[in-house]
Amino acid sequence: AIRNEHGTIQNFISVSSDVTERAEAHQRELEHQAYHDALTGLPNLMLVRDRLEHAINLANRDTKSVVVASLDIDNFKAINARFGHVIGDKTIECMASRLNHLLRSGDTLGRVTGDEFIFILEGHSDTSVINNLLERIREETSAPMSIDGRTLQITASIGATAYPNDKHDADTLIRHATQALHMAKRKGRDQVNWFDAEREREQTQLTQLIKKLRRAMEHKELILYYQPKVDMKRCQVVGVEALLRWQKADGTLVPPGDFLPHIEQHPFSIEVGDFVIEQALTQMEAWRKAGLKLPVSVNVSALQLLDQRFVEALVTHLRNHPKVEPADFEIEILESAAIGKINEAAKVIERCKALGVSVSLDDFGTGYAALDYLKRLPAQTLKIDQSFVRDMQGDDTDMTIVKGIMGLADAFSFNVIAEGVETPEQGRLLVALGCDIGQGYG
Ligand code: GH3
Ligand code: MG
Repeated sequence: AIRNEHGTIQNFISVSSDVTERAEAHQRELEHQAYHDALTGLPNLMLVRDRLEHAINLANRDTKSVVVASLDIDNFKAINARFGHVIGDKTIECMASRLNHLLRSGDTLGRVTGDEFIFILEGHSDTSVINNLLERIREETSAPMSIDGRTLQITASIGATAYPNDKHDADTLIRHATQALHMAKRKGRDQVNWFDAEREREQTQLTQLIKKLRRAMEHKELILYYQPKVDMKRCQVVGVEALLRWQKADGTLVPPGDFLPHIEQHPFSIEVGDFVIEQALTQMEAWRKAGLKLPVSVNVSALQLLDQRFVEALVTHLRNHPKVEPADFEIEILESAAIGKINEAAKVIERCKALGVSVSLDDFGTGYAALDYLKRLPAQTLKIDQSFVRDMQGDDTDMTIVKGIMGLADAFSFNVIAEGVETPEQGRLLVALGCDIGQGYG
């Protein structure tokens, strides 16, 4: 307010300035900060992700692929430790500019964190071209760096995945590229490693199968069928083998071949194996109550046998079923050929025998089990694999194998039992050869 000499207000002066431009610049600055890395000025993960989403949308329209690659400097901590963070920062900046020069203008390069970069390559269709490109990037980013008069020798590892072969959203693709990067590091660094989409699919299917099986177990859909073992000479049932079946709620029966082989290398198979032991013992107790005393065998995989808690769990199960005599319980060791730690397996078998439980080696003759196993695995029974029994009448080789196994069993004092006996002729032939016990659809 401007006043005259009498003190009355004469006029006002106003001062204003237009800040639109500054506000906009500030806004731009903030946005840039939100989407870029301060050290290198490169897009950060958030922006890379946006661009990747856009690239995926475009790729859905043509047949070109989108490659997501993650690059990380090898042993970068050593550079920081040896030369300090300033040189470390400059190394990161130098790497950023190298990558920038190697990529095409349409490609996206970003810095994720620390010494890790991510880039998106678009518009390529030939995988060998992309692979060569990644190899070239790895090679050229690994050239000696000259920083503040020092020469640094660095290497980098790259993990990559390609859409649509790896058909997932942006976040998953980035995760897959990082996973592949970690694998490259584990394989020894200084290399390009591709994400294995096929393996991931298998892994996902396995996870789903396990989920379903777990539910099946809870809903009592996993049940045991019992296949008699017959003394074919005296025409007497001398025991049964418990075989796992999956009976779905609608009544359909899933054959074991459709689920067991898929889980056999997974720790979940140990849970299933444990469940089988519990079910078999429960059944034995029920039969005992009904006046039937019948030895029952269950299948145990190498994985389950060598699980640290196996014997302990077996002891607990037997204790929970005091009516069952351990001598009537038998474990059949599957694919004994696959047992790597033979000494440990032998110890477990000894402990089982000390409990009174008997042990047999299943599928004998397949899978190149070393003869040495017969000496070292203190089992009592050899089971002749069904593939030999099935064809022994028409196939001299199979006949020779059956005779051979029986000879070995005799020499090492094992009992023998033939699997897969389907016809009376096979039974008669086995008895004539000296193998009285058989089991199978027959
Ligand atoms: P690896 O071969 O497994 O990648 O080992 P590495 O030593 O490179 O370790 P890693 O990539 O896991 O970690 C990167 C390190 O980089 C972690 C941190 O000490 C350092 N780092 C992270 N951000 C910065 C940065 O902005 N500047 C500098 N100088 N160092 C950083
Ligand atoms: Mg690193």
